[in-house]
Amino acid sequence: MKLKNYQMYINGEWIDSVSGKYFPSYNPATGEAWCYVAKGTAEDVDRAVKAAHDAFLSPEWSNMTYTERGKLVRKLGELISDRVDELAKFETMDNGKLIREMRGQLTYLPEFFYYYAGLADKIHGETLPIDKKDMFVFSSREPLGVVAAITPWNSPLYLTTLKLAPSLVAGNTIVIKPSEYTSASLLELVKLVEEAGFPPGVVNVVTGFGLPVGDTLTSHPLVSRIAFTGGTESARHVVRNSAENFAKVSLELGGKSPNIVFEDADPDNAAMGIIAGIFGASGQSCVAGSRAFLHVDIYDQVMDRLVDRVSKIKIGDPLLDETEMGPVATKAQLERVEQYVTLGHEEGGKLIYGGKKPEQIGNGWYYEPTIFEHTDNKARITQEEIFGPVLSVIPFKDEQEVIELANSTNYGLAAGIWVKDVARAHRVAKAIRAGIVWVNTYRSVSPVAPIGGSKLSGYGRESGYEAIYEYTQTKTVWINTSSEPIPDPFIMR
Ligand code: NAD
Repeated sequence: MKLKNYQMYINGEWIDSVSGKYFPSYNPATGEAWCYVAKGTAEDVDRAVKAAHDAFLSPEWSNMTYTERGKLVRKLGELISDRVDELAKFETMDNGKLIREMRGQLTYLPEFFYYYAGLADKIHGETLPIDKKDMFVFSSREPLGVVAAITPWNSPLYLTTLKLAPSLVAGNTIVIKPSEYTSASLLELVKLVEEAGFPPGVVNVVTGFGLPVGDTLTSHPLVSRIAFTGGTESARHVVRNSAENFAKVSLELGGKSPNIVFEDADPDNAAMGIIAGIFGASGQSCVAGSRAFLHVDIYDQVMDRLVDRVSKIKIGDPLLDETEMGPVATKAQLERVEQYVTLGHEEGGKLIYGGKKPEQIGNGWYYEPTIFEHTDNKARITQEEIFGPVLSVIPFKDEQEVIELANSTNYGLAAGIWVKDVARAHRVAKAIRAGIVWVNTYRSVSPVAPIGGSKLSGYGRESGYEAIYEYTQTKTVWINTSSEPIPDPFIMR
């Protein structure tokens, strides 16, 4: 059977790359190619950025009222809500994540478009009570220009939406480079951008690899804003590239997030929360709760529940509704997980569960849910992001100790706290250095709530009203209302 070729979308047209080349996209559940994607070049990027720049300046887009832009963004959300099942299937085919996880994400995705559509006519400045006579001063929030959006493979459309929806309502135009592993769902979604009625050039997609596509895009002189989600090393390149043009950057990177269980927590809920944090999505989540800190007084209770439920996890075809854990997304990712498990043994971790590929699941890139027990937080597998289904469990005795343990990584993205004592919940949430803290829940998201991190987890915030600030800049306008002659021109007024 001939596999489908996906073209790129530039300036409202579906086109081949100037290279004329395509590369395969693999289904992680079978290890086989299921479609081909246009292999973008630097020249394609240049074409897309120029189209986005022209569209940004065009009266059709720049003079469109905020209300009209909001309506277009809302329409896009509505079109997505009609195509949830189909889009979810494309995501699962590309990244191997559970169809029910992707369907869940996509069912909720329109809410992000509706939220930002609702904000479109609330993007306003202020009249400033200026401390000078005869001056009227106001500020407005202006779009930045061309946004370069770069996304990873784990939640392709969700992570794109966090950039796309606020960019558009704020009046920017955008060039998106999806992960080379997961381009199909975005290319399908872009058909809906067309259907919603966005002018050509407002949304563009260049597919291909970090080099040259991501690299050229983030160093392009016409790009004013870079929204990057991915790994730390790629982010370093992106930040250096941004210096070419001083483009404003946001970085949503990885994590080594702690899930802390205090002695008064509900052990059943805590065990479920830990599983949701690390084995949901096979650990391929930026906010994966990859370190569980269990208070010694509740250690055995939580551990017993954890191991019992984990031993019942149904691993298999991610397209089946009953499956609870699918494969990891790439062969390289599987090898990375295997290397960290070997390291876990070498560093003295005690393997409690898993630690190998499951038997009899064909040629897919599957790995068992894996639990290591450690005596401290110093081993590399307790410090480095694995991005796979590997949990490190560490005991603790008191609050101050666990705060220090939780904070002692180079990351600062997310944290979970399982506790009944409300005062302690507040104290610990405050002390944890992370952009998101969940108390008695884990992996909850909403368009209303900002996400983002600190330290090696990056900077800037996506989601929530804060994203509007991230995609706009302030203009201050001074109007002299006096008809008096201008006095001494050599001093600041
Ligand atoms: P990656 O850094 O390898 O790739 C991410 C994107 O960057 C891809 O589109 C890739 O082609 C591109 N890229 C690679 N090199 C580049 C370069 N030199 N210049 C510009 N672009 C380049 O990451 P990945 O393996 O696709 O994704 C996994 C990582 O993403 C993990 O570290 C994970 O924690 C992180 N992540 C973070 C969040 C978040 O919101 N914080 C969400 C999901 C994933």
